[in-house]
Amino acid sequence: MIGRCDATTVADTDALAQAIKIESRVDDPDWAEVDAVQCQVSDDAPHVFHVAFLRDGAQREPSTDVFLHWHQDMPGQWAEDLPVCESEDPTGDICTIYRDHPGACEWAQFNPFDIALRAQVDQLIAALKPVGLRGTFTKWRARLGGDQGGH
Ligand SMILES: [Zn+2]
Ligand SMILES: [Zn+2]
Repeated sequence: MIGRCDATTVADTDALAQAIKIESRVDDPDWAEVDAVQCQVSDDAPHVFHVAFLRDGAQREPSTDVFLHWHQDMPGQWAEDLPVCESEDPTGDICTIYRDHPGACEWAQFNPFDIALRAQVDQLIAALKPVGLRGTFTKWRARLGGDQGGH
């Protein structure tokens, strides 16, 4: 399976100022966690600029989102309102990368960070077994997907 690019960044004040100026289709737009933005492109696709969802965009039809762009090795970021890919997999998962993005759609990628998180939750479940809280975390774990730990 194709992985997700593991490049991350902190949105800088210039890019945030740009993003704030862009009109929003909703009164209270959703923002990414601006201090831990992870590129959405798949790691098999060569790309000069990393790109990630930053904020709900200005338009509804077609739907747009504000994306943060940054360069791997050079400073400088910018925010841009772009149409969303919206390609759908057979289970109805919708790709939220910008339209005509390089590489695989979001639903065809696995995220190395998610795998690390699942491993941590599996450990937590194992540790909580004697305490009787296991059920709660097992439900949460199921939402993360992937292979169940089987403990
Ligand atoms: Zn990237
Ligand atoms: Zn896509």
